[in-house]
Order: sequence, then C-alpha cells, then structure tokens
Amino acid sequence: MVTVEEALKNIEQCAIPFSSEEVSLEDAHGRVLDEDIVADRDFPPYHRSAMDGIAISSNQAKRKSFKVIGEQLAGAPQRTLRDENTCFEIMTGASLPLGTDSVVRYEDVSIEEGMATLTIDEITPDQNVHKKGTDAHKGDVLVQSGKQINAGDIGILASVGKTRFEVKRLPRVALVSTGDELVEPQEIPLDHQVRKSNIYSLLSELKNERLQVEKFHFDDKYDEIKSGLSEISEKFDVILMSGGVSKGKRDYLPEVLEEIGVRKHFHRIAQKPGKPMWFGSNEKVTVFGFPGNPVSTLVCYRLYFKRWLNFASGIESSGKMAELTEDIHFKPDLVYHVPVAISHNENRILATPFPGHGSGDLVNLSKADAFLTLPRGKNHFLKGEVYSLF
Ligand code: AMP
Ligand code: MG
Repeated sequence: MVTVEEALKNIEQCAIPFSSEEVSLEDAHGRVLDEDIVADRDFPPYHRSAMDGIAISSNQAKRKSFKVIGEQLAGAPQRTLRDENTCFEIMTGASLPLGTDSVVRYEDVSIEEGMATLTIDEITPDQNVHKKGTDAHKGDVLVQSGKQINAGDIGILASVGKTRFEVKRLPRVALVSTGDELVEPQEIPLDHQVRKSNIYSLLSELKNERLQVEKFHFDDKYDEIKSGLSEISEKFDVILMSGGVSKGKRDYLPEVLEEIGVRKHFHRIAQKPGKPMWFGSNEKVTVFGFPGNPVSTLVCYRLYFKRWLNFASGIESSGKMAELTEDIHFKPDLVYHVPVAISHNENRILATPFPGHGSGDLVNLSKADAFLTLPRGKNHFLKGEVYSLF
C-alpha cells in the first residue's frame, strides 16, 4: 500500500508529456496550446474610434460648431480632414481620419442642418480614441504555449489569422467496466443485478475533457478479461477500469494486467474511499484500475487520472483549498476524501461535508460538488479548518 502523496508522485512521474497535433479554430476550445501566439499586427491595428459621434481636431478646442463634410464608417478606408473647422461623422470601430485626433460622442453634440454643435466644453486630444498598438504591438506574444484555450483566446487566435495551430494531443481512452452483476441502463435488472452507472459518470467527465472514449465491458471471467485487455492495450493510450481490483475471488484485473505485460506501479492507497486502486503502465499504455464502488471510482478519477492528464498536458493542478463548515470525526488511519457541497462567503470557500453511507452511496454523490481531503494522523477535523479540495 502507498500513501496518497506517493501515489500522486508516481503518477506524475509516469505522465510523459503528450506530443502535439494541429487543430482548427472551431475545435480548439479547452485544448492546451502548444505554440506561442504572436500578434501579426498592432492591436488595435489603426487608431480606432471607440464611440459613434464626430471626429474633429482638438486644436479647435475653443470652437463650438463644425461643418459636417461626410462620414467615416467602420470598414471604410481612412479619410482626410483638410479643414479643421469641419468634421466627419464617425462610427465605432472606424479608422480615425487623418487631420483629426478626437471623437466627440453623439450624446455630446447636436447636429442640425449639416452643422455639429458641441454641448460640452472640454475637448482633449485622443478622447474616445483607442490608439493603434495600445493593447499589443506586432510581434508580442498574445497567448503563451501551455495555456488551456478559452473563448477569449479563440478570439485572439481568430484576430491574428491563426485558423490552424498546434495543441497538445489528447490520449485515446478505453473505458472498461467489469462485473457479472452489471447490466446496461436500458435493461431491467434482476434482483441480484445492478445497472452500470460508473461508466456513464466517467464518460461524462471524459467528454468534458474533450477526450475520445470507447466503452468496453467484461464479465468476471479470467480468459475473457485477458484477451479483451490485451487487445485494448494495443490500441489505446490509457485504460480506465472500474471494478475488479479489490480482494474479491473474481477481482482478476491485477493478475491479468501483469500477465499481459502491464507493470504494476502500485496497488492500494491509504485512503477512503478508493483504497483498492491499481496503477500501472508499459511503453504503450497507462492503466488506472479504479475500485467499482461509485464514490471510489469518481474520487480516483478526479484525483489520480486528472493529475496524470493535467501533468502530461502541462497544466498545473489548481491547488484549491476550502474551509470545513462542520466538525468531522474519522477513525481509520487513512486519508479521507469526504464529499462536500461548496458555497462561498466573501472570499472564503466553504465545504459542507456529506459523508453519506460510504463508497457505495451513489445517491449521496449528487449533493457533492467536490471532495475535501482530510489528512491521516488525525481523527477530529474541526469547523473552520482548511483542507485541500478536488
Ligand atoms: P468491485 O470493485 O468490482 O469489487 O465492485 C465494488 C462494487 O461496485 C460492487 O458493488 C459493484 O457492483 C459496484 N460496481 C462495479 N462496477 C460498477 C459500475 N460500472 N457501475 C456501478 N456499480 C459498479
Ligand atoms: Mg466486481
């Protein structure tokens, strides 16, 4: 048995950085950028009007009325104002005409019979002008390699004309359930059967990560598991398994995995839930064997698989902490990952525990937003104490 820290460390060591692949703008959200994105021109690329109004020269600050001689529309080439006693009407996003340096909003002008009269006294150079290069200069790095791409980044990528670019490749995932007692959700279980649920919880989490997943199921039969797993281990980068790693008579996975050449890195972690977890790899595949109980499966996925995925993608783990809202007593000498509901009080993150009925209590999971990790070496955890959250 290893400690939680040893397990995490081992997983980080086994997380070989993913190679890169090209994606298009439409498919990039949530992916991890694998190149720096550089401004191909200044941002903004020209002095742009930030308001609808009139463009004038601030040299004429004392003057109240300007003859309107035309319009400077967004998307139209830059015009030139030759007479400072005149003005252009100008629209937001338009290029500021040569000979002008100031935009007065429509709200501060009245326009009648071709004359614009200011209703404010103060005119300053550059007012309501978003000047060329104020946000970034050509050649600046706008988004750094290693960033997980959000909607703002997509906007930047589009703005610099990057329609295809390098991101970290995602692993191909095989999701494997085992157990003779399991039937599909659309089936009516017999009295001694249950519907598969873990696989669908995990599938939803994996889809959220944009991972491509294929599902498999094996009954608790040694040969079936062995031939199935050896085939899968050739085709996928990572296998996530739920069930079959505990001490039961038909928990064959640890034995089968070693037999097909997946080397064990650890089996069993000093934690609850999720104590029986198995982890191993060979040159081709990395295997996470999660215990089948629904809470254990989710805890192990979120804590261990996500750590591996983030590490190999180059994303730092968040290291969030939260404050207990109630005392908890926990006897065993194990780390306790307790399901919690999260709330906020000013800038404190509060965690209200829902211990439920242990690792088989699927119903309890629906109340939980996260898990709070209570360390070993202590039996009493008090309201107000702060622990790490995942
Ligand atoms: P195991 O880890 O195989 O000993 O399974 C522990 C418990 O989790 C048993 O009660 C199983 O029925 C249950 N279980 C295993 N796999 C799943 C699954 N995919 N969905 C729901 N429950 C499961
Ligand atoms: Mg089982």
